[in-house]
Amino acid sequence: MRTFAFCPRLYFFERHLGKETTLYQRIRMFLGRIWHALLEALEEEAEVEVRGELAGTEVVGKADVVKEDAVVEIKSGDGPSDGAWYGDYLQASIYAALLGRKKVIIKYRNGERTFEVDLEELERVLELFKLVAEGYLPPPKRSKWCSKCPYKDLCDALGDGWDGWFPRLPYVKRAKGVPARGSSRARP
Ligand code: SF4
Repeated sequence: MRTFAFCPRLYFFERHLGKETTLYQRIRMFLGRIWHALLEALEEEAEVEVRGELAGTEVVGKADVVKEDAVVEIKSGDGPSDGAWYGDYLQASIYAALLGRKKVIIKYRNGERTFEVDLEELERVLELFKLVAEGYLPPPKRSKWCSKCPYKDLCDALGDGWDGWFPRLPYVKRAKGVPARGSSRARP
């Protein structure tokens, strides 16, 4: 879901062509595994399995921490100053919806952000996710990260294919009351 939020076309390639990982991504995955092992040692309610269906999409995952009223996701990197990375927000919200929690708290190194779960928004995004998972090619979501994308040549060859049927997902879910900043962000 985080890849889908970052670039739906990248998710399409990973899903239908097999995932290619760069050295940078492999290092991040390794550090992530260490981080979650530490988390498990510190938190009793850490790493709660989540399994279910939302808007026709099968979800299997692990919530970092589940509290009485919220799902908490703990990230090893920084978040944007005006909210959360959209993929982090979506992932946490989907877990919260399936676990019957109304809030999500995303803890970054540079602070924590809290959001109410918006079921309508989740359903809209999951509908798009389902289309791409079924094989519809979405338009590219160009950013400065494209130069590092393992599918760049294929993506360029396929062209923009933009006919307006697929809305551009934001990079950042803004926290309430925080003014928007530029929309072109580095990959979280
Ligand atoms: S090159 Fe850019 S737009 Fe194309 S799939 Fe990769 S990240 Fe997405």
